[in-house]
Amino acid sequence: MWQPMRALCLLMLGLLTSASAGAQVAAGVNAEAVTQQLVAGRAAELYAERLAALRAAHALDVHGAVLERVRRIAGGLIAQARRDYPDSADWAWELHVTTDEEHLADGMAGGKMLLGEAYLERLEIADAELAMLLAHEMAHALLRHNLLEYQLALRLDRGWARRPFLALEEAVESDSALIAKLAPQGLAQEAEADREGLLLAWRAGWPAARLANYFKKLARGSGLPNFDSATHPSPASRWAAARALAATLPAGAAWPDGDGRLFP
Ligand SMILES: [Zn+2]
Repeated sequence: MWQPMRALCLLMLGLLTSASAGAQVAAGVNAEAVTQQLVAGRAAELYAERLAALRAAHALDVHGAVLERVRRIAGGLIAQARRDYPDSADWAWELHVTTDEEHLADGMAGGKMLLGEAYLERLEIADAELAMLLAHEMAHALLRHNLLEYQLALRLDRGWARRPFLALEEAVESDSALIAKLAPQGLAQEAEADREGLLLAWRAGWPAARLANYFKKLARGSGLPNFDSATHPSPASRWAAARALAATLPAGAAWPDGDGRLFP
């Protein structure tokens, strides 16, 4: 999944030290100047707004045991990401859980993730399956999918280069014609996040077959498992691809320790 500002990533290089700094920069630049720092700054700001709204509704991090579980599993994945993607070493990863029944899971640039507790319960999600879900969202960020989406929009229509970045940001979310043009790349990014996420979690120590099982649950829980959606490949094809990839990976990986220290 991938939500308001899909992709993510960004190097928290210290050029943007706060969400408000990101907003100030974004407000004053044209789309041609879009950078990883800019995208990340905006993501941090939007993420903070989402968290504040959920907190006000008493729907954020309600159950400490759930939060501890997801952060423990994410901790091992983030440690692995720092080894595999050195540019992410300084990222300020964040992970929260909401009791909003409608929320599934998403990640934003720079590693700002939000999981839906009800979604996890509906899937009866096992630890390895949760690792796959988290690693998918992390892969979007690590691979800079959000930035790549903006860059594609700029190539498709050079007119965007002279307009404010915030206008492009809004169009990517709401302009149906632009969204349709970006969709093929978006589908490819989803497949890439599945693949690279599974590999990341496997390198972190999770057994590949158990990771792939997340997609089996998605397919079994879907009313239309063989159909692509506007944003994602079909659940059945995702399950087949994950199963095939897992079959190529040696079994017997070490169990991750997931110490959770990345989230004090
Ligand atoms: Zn995704």
